[in-house]
Formats: sequence, C-alpha cells, structure tokens
Amino acid sequence: MNNLKTKGLLSIFIVFIFAAQMISYSNVIACDIYKSNPAAENRQLLTEKNSNIKYKTYEPVKHEALSKRDLDSAAVKIPVLMYHSINVKSTNNLIITPQEFDKQIKWLKDNGFTPLFLDEVYSMLTTGKDIPLKPVALTFDDGYVDNYTEAYPILKKYNFKATIFLITDSIGQHSVLNEEQIREMYANNIDFQSHTASHHELNVLPYQKQLDELVRSKEALSKLLNKNIDCICYPVGRYNADTIKAAKTAGYKIGFTTKPGHAKQSDGLYTLTRVRMFPGMGMQILNSKK
Ligand SMILES: [Zn+2]
Repeated sequence: MNNLKTKGLLSIFIVFIFAAQMISYSNVIACDIYKSNPAAENRQLLTEKNSNIKYKTYEPVKHEALSKRDLDSAAVKIPVLMYHSINVKSTNNLIITPQEFDKQIKWLKDNGFTPLFLDEVYSMLTTGKDIPLKPVALTFDDGYVDNYTEAYPILKKYNFKATIFLITDSIGQHSVLNEEQIREMYANNIDFQSHTASHHELNVLPYQKQLDELVRSKEALSKLLNKNIDCICYPVGRYNADTIKAAKTAGYKIGFTTKPGHAKQSDGLYTLTRVRMFPGMGMQILNSKK
C-alpha cells in the first residue's frame, strides 16, 4: 500500500516537472518570434489587452523582410490567380461563393503568401530582386459588381491586395463596377488594369482595331485613376502576333493570357500564364512550382 502511494506521488511529481518545462519552452519560442520585431511585440501586447483586435490571427508576424531574397530572374515563378465573379449564386465554374473565397484568402494568409500588385510581378520577373518566399497575385477579370460587394470586404478583412481587369466601355453598366466603386477600391489596396475597351476577342481583329482596343482602354483608365496603365489581360485569353505588337506599341509592359501555370519570364512578358480558380479546388496546388 505504502509502495503504491509513493509510486503515485512520484508520477504526479514527474508530470508536474514535465508540464513546467513545456511552459517555459513555449515561452522561449513565443519570445523568439517577437524578439527582433518591436512593432509586432507591441501589437501582441495590445492584442492581449483587447481581445477584439484580431492581429493575432491575421497580421503576418513572420520576418517578411528577412524572407525576401534575390534570385536569377529566369528562376522566378509567381502564381497569378485568375478569378472572375464572387457570388452566392455559383452557377458555373467561373463563379466562387464568398464563403469559399474567404477560406481561400485565409489559407493564403495562414500559409504565409505575400500578395503582389502586377507592377511588382513585372519588376520581380525582370530583375529577380526582393522576391518573397511565397509570392502570389490575385486578378479578377471583367469587373463584376460583386468584386465590390463580395470580394472587396473579404480582401479588406485579410488586408490582401488584388487587381481587377476592367472592360472600359462597360464601366457603370448593369452588374459591372461603376466609377465611384472603382475609385473607392483603388484608394484601398485594389489596383485596376486593362481588359480592353469592348472585350472583343483580339485574335480575330485586324491590327489597327486591336491597337484601338488597347489604346482606348489604357487612356480611359489612366484618366479615371490618374496613373499609368501598364498591364493588359486579353479577353478570353485570345491573342496573336499582332496583339503582342499592339500591346508593346500602346505602351503596356506585361500581358496575361488564360493559359495555365505560374507566371515566369520564359513564357514571354506579353503572354504570361495564370492559375484558374474554380469552385472546390484545393489550394495546395499553389505550393507546386509549375
Ligand atoms: Zn474577360
């Protein structure tokens, strides 16, 4: 009996020592994360004082600056995600529900992806400098109004950048973004680039008409947002040799197709590929390097 009692007390003592060691070990890890990042440390303290602040969950507390590196520009590969509509009525494979979109952006955030604008993508593909460990760019084609009503609040929630390709002749029409919405989003981390003036498939148009589509949309967006428009996305991904010539002549720096794959220099800066996002897809595909 006595022997049993001693054994029991000894086991409790061992468990206690083990638990005490685990607590001190986890404190070491936690301190290490914040040690060289005073801003993050302050945020952490703030979070502890006020549980309504959600920095703890979504603010990247990783050493982003340190994880950036320089590469041979030919080796840079960036997944540029292609979305269209974010809507509760997901009736075809171009429409993703807000619930699923929220989960996807949370996954990107939780997995340490760094969102980029397309001028950053251009600079990384051409210089190989300052490449984040996990770069990603979000693009939306056609400028649907649900990009404002559904996607924009989710992007704001996770503090995630994105780019919308606009059809400039359609701005303000039924179910398309209007100028006021575009300006508001532009002031809040959402960029806009050209998806041509009328969404004609470019490869069936003569050169001059293609050039007109590219120049007219570039000018309309430059005027609306008071900035240079450097990026073109070809409607339905269709293009030919004249399209690339017209894109260069109109002054674009990069062009996107709908062909699948991570964007890389070897595909050509005017024929960059993207990752098509569809309902029910797994996000792990973004960890591949194709
Ligand atoms: Zn389109």
